[in-house]
Amino acid sequence: MRVGILGGGQLGRMLALSGYPLGLSFRFLDPSPEACAGQVGELVVGDYLDGEALARFAEGLDLVTYEFENVPVEAAQRLAEKLPVYPPPKALEIAQDRLAEKSFMQGLGVPTPPFRRVDTLEELREGLAAVGLPALLKTRRGGYDGKGQALVHSPEEAERAFHALGGQGLILEGFVPFHREVSLLAVRGLGGEVAFYPLVANRHQGGILRLSLAPAPGLTSKLQEKAEGYAQKALEAWGYAGVLALELFQMGEELLFNEMAPRVHNSGHWTIEGAETSQFENHLRALLGLPLGSTAPRGYSAMANLIGVEPDFAQVLALPGAHLHWYGKEVRPGRKVGHITLRRDTWEDLARDLPHLLTLAQTPEPV
Ligand code: AMP
Repeated sequence: MRVGILGGGQLGRMLALSGYPLGLSFRFLDPSPEACAGQVGELVVGDYLDGEALARFAEGLDLVTYEFENVPVEAAQRLAEKLPVYPPPKALEIAQDRLAEKSFMQGLGVPTPPFRRVDTLEELREGLAAVGLPALLKTRRGGYDGKGQALVHSPEEAERAFHALGGQGLILEGFVPFHREVSLLAVRGLGGEVAFYPLVANRHQGGILRLSLAPAPGLTSKLQEKAEGYAQKALEAWGYAGVLALELFQMGEELLFNEMAPRVHNSGHWTIEGAETSQFENHLRALLGLPLGSTAPRGYSAMANLIGVEPDFAQVLALPGAHLHWYGKEVRPGRKVGHITLRRDTWEDLARDLPHLLTLAQTPEPV
């Protein structure tokens, strides 16, 4: 089977690495000749909407998926006329728009932070009256890793942010004093079979994921079931296939939906060593109509991103239970260039070695 992947970043690379044992082959489409997945599979370099590049990419493929959620929906739709494309392009379209995804989940009865559409100054004023202060003003599209958003504490600050963010295509959200951020990785097969990984606790810095702890410390079955119920609604509504990531804010035993990604996710990298079946393999199993693998955790894992730094490989590998993933990318400030997963049999052992992991990943304190 030949799998085509839109996007050639590290997620595509890790999908391919997990698919080779199953006898799959991979081709990527990415505008950059440097795309790091090109080191492990065939890379077609071209714009996502370039007809000639799309045709070269599609030639001889059995199915198409994506590893990058800002792929133009039109590219996925055009490919879907000829080939199976999963997850459904509809899910991609909704996940690209912060207003659409929150409205969609709210429509399914899933709690979200209070939010309002903002395209005019008048809508900004009405929005502030509705959601209160402090609030976050965000671009609806294109923002990621904390870019394209501003925390505002007063109407004046909100107006300045409104202009700085372009004055339209915005969403205003009430600031949620969450206790922590968690994510749920869900997977649904072509036949409707579903599986869920345990909730993961995530810590961000400057809007970029720094550290994931899995399963989330102190996770209760009640919270897990709540998250699974929310994900299940989205999966069923779309007739979804593949991995879906939900990012949620936890307040006590409540969960508020923040955003989703219709793809494998950074907060699921720990599953490579920390779960019976990785998110990457399960994404592929799902799309191929194969039985899903167990999502059970193997002990306790911490995953630290390597952001703009190259660690001392020998030092990382000298730590028992540490697994280094280097993406083969050029190191630049703020860029995700690799990750380290540390696996332990008990939470106590993992907690003891966490500071060492953060030092190896050169994570600025405190995380
Ligand atoms: P986003 O790109 O929308 O996921 O936002 C990036 C980060 O900003 C999130 O991971 C949160 O840490 C924070 N954030 C986003 N929205 C809110 C909100 N409504 N209330 C509090 N913090 C938020």
